[in-house]
Parts: sequence; C-alpha cells; structure tokens
Amino acid sequence: MTFAELNLHPSILKALAECGYTEPTPIQAQAIPEALAGRDLMASAQTGTGKTAAFMLPAMQRLATPSPVKSRGPRVLVLTPTRELATQVSDAAFKYSKYLPKVKTVSILGGMPYPLQNKLLSQPVEVLVATPGRLIDHIERGRIDFSRLEMVVLDEADRMLDMGFLEDVETILKATPASRQVLLFSATFEGSVAKLAENMLKEPVRIQIAAQKARHENIEQRLHVVDDMEHKNKLLEYLLADTEISQAIVFTSTKRDADDLAGYLYDLGHHSAALHGDMNQRERNRTLTQLRRGAVRVLVATDVAARGIDVPGISHVINYDLPKFAEDYVHRIGRTGRAGASGIAVSFASNRDGMHLKRIERFIGLEIPRHTIAGLEPKRPLRAEPKPGGKRFGGKPSYGNKNGGAGKPRNEGYSHSRALPRHGEGKGGHKKHAPR
Ligand code: AMP
Repeated sequence: MTFAELNLHPSILKALAECGYTEPTPIQAQAIPEALAGRDLMASAQTGTGKTAAFMLPAMQRLATPSPVKSRGPRVLVLTPTRELATQVSDAAFKYSKYLPKVKTVSILGGMPYPLQNKLLSQPVEVLVATPGRLIDHIERGRIDFSRLEMVVLDEADRMLDMGFLEDVETILKATPASRQVLLFSATFEGSVAKLAENMLKEPVRIQIAAQKARHENIEQRLHVVDDMEHKNKLLEYLLADTEISQAIVFTSTKRDADDLAGYLYDLGHHSAALHGDMNQRERNRTLTQLRRGAVRVLVATDVAARGIDVPGISHVINYDLPKFAEDYVHRIGRTGRAGASGIAVSFASNRDGMHLKRIERFIGLEIPRHTIAGLEPKRPLRAEPKPGGKRFGGKPSYGNKNGGAGKPRNEGYSHSRALPRHGEGKGGHKKHAPR
C-alpha cells in the first residue's frame, strides 16, 4: 500500500515524501482510512510503530479544507501525558503540515510561563498539543475556544490515566463539542482505559496491531544476572566500552540514581547526561537536543522522563534497574529499534528482582534470554519463582550484596552511595553533564 492510495491531500503526500516515508506502517494502514471516514478509534499501538502519523495525517487532511466555523480556536487537540511526547507530536505536526497553508501548531505544556501561552492562545490555532493539567488551567480561565474543534486525540491514554489524569481528561472532553471525533491510542486496553473509551467514544473501531508477544521483533533482548551493585557496575562499564553502541539509554528507578549514575559514568569518561522529572524543562530540552545531535552518548533516565523519546541513534537500552511495572519494560525497550532499525535491550536482574522479572516475562510472553560475559559471570544463578504460600523469594535469603545478604530483603530503590563512587563533589552537583 502507498500513502497515495490512502487518498491523502497532495500537500501531505509531498511532506511525507520529504520525510522519506515510502509506505504506511501497519498502524497507519489500518487507522488512517477509518479516521478519514470520521470514525472514533481505539488503537492499540506503541511508540515506534508510526502511531503519531496514524493520527496526525487524518488530522492534517481535515486541515487541508477550511473550517466552516468562524473561530480562532483549535481544530485538532492532542493530549499527551508528558511534555517530551507533546514536543514530538508538535514536531510531527510541523513536518506533515509543511505544505499546507495556515496550519499553526501550538504546545501548551506544564512548566511553561503563562504569559507566553496566553499570547499563543490569543492567535488563531489549528493544532493544539497539550498536557492535561495545564490545558485545564486555560480552559477554566476561559482562554480556549473549542467551537471549531473537530478532532481530539488521546495519545498514550494508558499512561495518562496512570499519571492520574483521568478526571482532567474527562473534564477536557466535556468541554469539547459533542460532534468531535475522538482517536484514542494506548499500549493496553485494560481497566480504566477501557472504561474511559466506553464513556468517551462513539462506536469506536478497535485496531490492534500486534499481540504483545509479537512486538519488538527487531529488538534483541538479553538478561544479565547480577550478584550485587559492584557486579552490575562492572557489567555496565563493560557494555558501554563496546564501540557497537552508538547511543544508549540506561534506566534507573529513581531520579537520584539517574543523577548519580550519569555522574559516575561521566567521571569514567563517557559522554553521559541524566534525564528525570526533577529537571526543569529547559534542562530536559537541552539534554534531549544533545542526545539527538549525538553529543550525549549515554543518557541515564527515569521512566517518566524517557517516555516518548524518539532518537534513531539509540542502539541500546540498558535496564540498570528493572521497571516496577511490566508495561514500562515494553516502553523502555521501544526506545531502541526505532523506525525499523534493530536494537539491543539489556536488563540486569539480581535475586531481589525475581518477582519483577517473572512479571515482565509473563507480560511479554517470553523468557528473556540469559547472557553472560566471560570473566563477569554471576556467582549465583537466579532463584526460581516462589511457590504459592512459600517464602517470598524461596530459599535462604541472599541478595547478592555484602550489606544485604544476612537479613531480610532490603527495600527497592537501594542507594548507590555504597557501591558507586560519589560524583560531582565540589562541582556544584551533577544534574547535567556537558559532554567533554
Ligand atoms: P512513532 O511511533 O509515531 O513514535 O514513530 C516512530 C518513528 O517512525 C518516527 O521516527 C517516525 O518519523 C517514523 N515513521 C512514522 N511513519 C513512518 C513511515 N510510514 N515510514 C517510515 N518511518 C516512519
């Protein structure tokens, strides 16, 4: 199938050709015709599958014809859970609307100054990309005119609900005309997403691109069993020394660990930087720009900050800490293998991670192949899953850590202070590490 066969406007086709897209991805091939027919959509798709264009191209098709309603308000509204994702959606809107006359895209995100946003909203807007909290503020202040709104997109709806945006999303949808089309994209359609969809969508068409298990076929997944922090750090250093890695994202579970580890790697001579929710938007953007330009080779990030990152150079994802939620594993590894490239996702797991690992493996329907590196093999294998009613992790507790081996399991989120040399002392902290 070609984009021309989807009957897209010639100006959109011209922009797509410039992007180098030759044919629609499966989600685009299925979603675009339904969306163009005006149907509400419930599509299950991950980032990396081309989902942004799957909703943005039908949106652009609407914008190719002038609105019959006289207003300056947005004709398309895209809600995203994070600022990073919103920025990527806006970038996509700019790209695809390049040859359409008068398509103004505006982002309204938390953390940006209100006066600037007020100014942006006082001018004619076609595409409004927003995070829910900040948009609600502007709606309540009467700054948004939805009278010509034709389409609402809920991007990564499951994540928006995870982040506690359900009420905000409902309020926003209620403020929009009943005639608008709603396109909902989500990794899963369980629990509250299904409820939201039922309440908000009109006879939606359901599109499921691939079963959980079939996803990420272009990403090789590996698991390294680690004994303790020291072992983990040695493995990380070994992996990062590999020249096959063009760029990597290393995931930690806490913001503090992201800072510490980025600093530690920087001290070892890596072009590393941290990315997490405690950094302000300017710092985050600067880091992401450096990552895109290749000036940052190793990004150490937490889940929230790394969501939506779409940088083709990311050849490796390393789960320094396993994610708490199995869905996040799928999101994390999807940061590599973008746009058809192949990628490698490496995860570290110690005996303390047994339950998390099992949950992840159940979710992806795959036992992640175990890997070892000569000279850095684990001293102990992973213990088996606990028997129902048995001890928490079964067997004698041993957490592979000198400090934790004798007693009960220690809490998650262990500090690096013992295992990682502290970084940045006397340098005013290490939130940001400009590459050398
Ligand atoms: P997304 O899933 O929207 O985050 O998109 C993932 C990546 O695929 C982005 O870099 C897009 O620019 C790229 N992409 C989207 N659609 C296509 C296509 N039809 N052909 C090639 N690349 C695409």
